[in-house]
Amino acid sequence: MRSANDLELVAVSKSYGTALAVDRVSHLFRAGSYVCLLGPSGCGKSSTLRMIAGHESVTEGAIILGGKDVAHLPPAQRGTAMMFQSYALFPHLNVRDNVAFSLKMKGIGKAERHAQADKLLELVGMTSFADRLPAQLSGGQQQRAALARALITKPQVLLLDEPLSALDPFLRIHMRTELKKLQRELGITFIHVTHGQDEALALADEIVVMNNAVIEQSGPAREVFNAPKTAFVARFIGGHNVLSLPEGRFAVRADEVRLVVHGTPAIVTAIEYQGAHVAMTGRIAGDQDVLALIPESVFFADPKTLGDTVTLAWDETRAHRLQG
Ligand code: ADP
Ligand code: MG
Repeated sequence: MRSANDLELVAVSKSYGTALAVDRVSHLFRAGSYVCLLGPSGCGKSSTLRMIAGHESVTEGAIILGGKDVAHLPPAQRGTAMMFQSYALFPHLNVRDNVAFSLKMKGIGKAERHAQADKLLELVGMTSFADRLPAQLSGGQQQRAALARALITKPQVLLLDEPLSALDPFLRIHMRTELKKLQRELGITFIHVTHGQDEALALADEIVVMNNAVIEQSGPAREVFNAPKTAFVARFIGGHNVLSLPEGRFAVRADEVRLVVHGTPAIVTAIEYQGAHVAMTGRIAGDQDVLALIPESVFFADPKTLGDTVTLAWDETRAHRLQG
């Protein structure tokens, strides 16, 4: 059942000439949820997001928001707002005027639009930067200004296209915490496009995995991680081995592969120190590589080197059968 502020895509397609970028995608985005659209470059994530925002025309299908099809409405009339990858702030306007810009377009007077802009700048912790130009801000500050600018239209759905990709790794983790907090405070739907599985796992109530113009799997973050349906999802979400066994193809979590005395023989082909874990790859019969994430204290109690023969094991009941 769809409720009033849910966003529903109904068989939405996008063609660029003869190329099909989005192929009859249907999905219900629950109001107030944090959804990550996850997939490799070129799979159709940005096209999907831009069609929801109204920055790209819909070739076929319907986009239902607030109980009506908004697919042919201009962006400002949909109840959505988009934050772009490059932030797209106006370089000649200070932060306050950037944030207030859409209100100016609507003919709202200066005092009122500045008051509203200041409220949002406070929300994103940017009050003391209101008079600066974008060039006088750090990447993280520009992003907050862009967020405030998108939110001033009071959208029901905020669309974010790779919002963290321009930030350094430390700031990226800091800002993703802030995005999540902001989404909880506002209670609106966030649809966040990313190609980073760690980002999706950290943020999403729901992960929608796209591949080759279609949705391959969607569900709560833990469900997608623990029960990937296909080899593609298992590989893309990471942390899994995809093994072809006589009974079919299975996903086995790398952190559930152990070094044991009796098990499957393997030749060590790679060792990578990762801090908490050592990522050790062993080649088993049939030239299949098995990745084992060994707790560092366990590994260094009896270290292995390249070319060693080891024995690996995993709990059969935790091997998860894949479709296709
Ligand atoms: P993603 O965001 O997942 O990387 P996109 O939605 O940007 O994917 O692109 C999906 C496919 O559509 C790609 O093959 C891309 O080259 C193509 N595409 C995207 N935008 C255009 C465009 N404006 N004109 C032609 N082809 C495009
Ligand atoms: Mg993209």
